[in-house]
Amino acid sequence: MSKDKLTIRSVQARPVNVPMARPLQTSGGAVATAPLVLIDLTTEEGPVGRSYIFCYTPIALAPIARLVENLSDVLKGDALAPLAIEDKLQRTFRLLGYQGFASMALAGIDMAAWDALGQAAGLPLVRLLGGAPRPIPAYNSKGLGIIGADKAGAEASELLAEGFRAVKVRLGYPDVATDVAVVRAVRRAVGEGTPVMSDYNQSLSVAEAQQRLRYLDGEGLYWVEEPTRFDDYAGHAAIRGKAGTPIQLGENCWGPHDMAKALEAGACDYFMIDAMKIGGITGWQRAAALAEPRGIPVSCHLFPEVSAHLLAVTPTAHWLEYVDWANPILQQPLAIKDGSAVIPDRPGVGLAWDEAVVAKYLV
Ligand SMILES: [Mg+2]
Repeated sequence: MSKDKLTIRSVQARPVNVPMARPLQTSGGAVATAPLVLIDLTTEEGPVGRSYIFCYTPIALAPIARLVENLSDVLKGDALAPLAIEDKLQRTFRLLGYQGFASMALAGIDMAAWDALGQAAGLPLVRLLGGAPRPIPAYNSKGLGIIGADKAGAEASELLAEGFRAVKVRLGYPDVATDVAVVRAVRRAVGEGTPVMSDYNQSLSVAEAQQRLRYLDGEGLYWVEEPTRFDDYAGHAAIRGKAGTPIQLGENCWGPHDMAKALEAGACDYFMIDAMKIGGITGWQRAAALAEPRGIPVSCHLFPEVSAHLLAVTPTAHWLEYVDWANPILQQPLAIKDGSAVIPDRPGVGLAWDEAVVAKYLV
């Protein structure tokens, strides 16, 4: 078997809806399950690349899975070269548009293709990309939804006790007094010196965000994420201009081109890359290259398994957002040790499905 030149045989996509151990209530709505499309990219030579994409709502599961599988015929017989695949799919989707379902499908195939390359080379993704494994500082992002000050303190303690040294609290209560009360409850629970990130999930107007940050600036928050609509870069820049707390943005940017616009507008102090929305591993590398010359610290959004590898090759790497949403369907979920993610010493990304659980949650 020659593994130095791989050829794509087929792309399989399976929709699963995985219950969350700790459902999350954000100011943008409730999330109780993880709707995932699992991708298996099979090569003629043997290696099977795997990735999953996160569909946000179960409504999107079936159409996205179908779209990914439709690409099987488009790619069959092509060389397994992620940059060439990306170029072909960009052209395939040029008129449909690069955002939304098309971009998610492209990213899922890109991540599976890189995984297969890593397997063929016998190298973990981090090494395939020229890096070395190292611990990646992680914050526990699983909980602290819109649950009120009474519950937030206890939940923050639980989240730290799982082995983390930082947590993120969702804000966007009906009034700023409640936002402040929740932040103080979390601070009392985790103690001084523990980073507490915060996330408004796009819920405020620019003026309201400026008003609330006047109160929150004294609370020692590590960052304030998406205070207003994610694509209002000028609005974020205006909020940032008056805020004393660093502004975090980026999880909803589609591809490095959106990211470039956000950075040009001075929208944020920190940038958060979503491995799917940015365009997979290929898109991430381009995004990391935009952040590096500007000195913008880069965190990841969701996808902790692949993001751990990618943060290790990101010059301005910052924090890994830890969620356990894919854990039930994985044979070996990402490990956390001393507050950091441990990059697995397995070829590729290191994803392997627990087929019995996959069968249970198959849609
Ligand atoms: Mg967020």
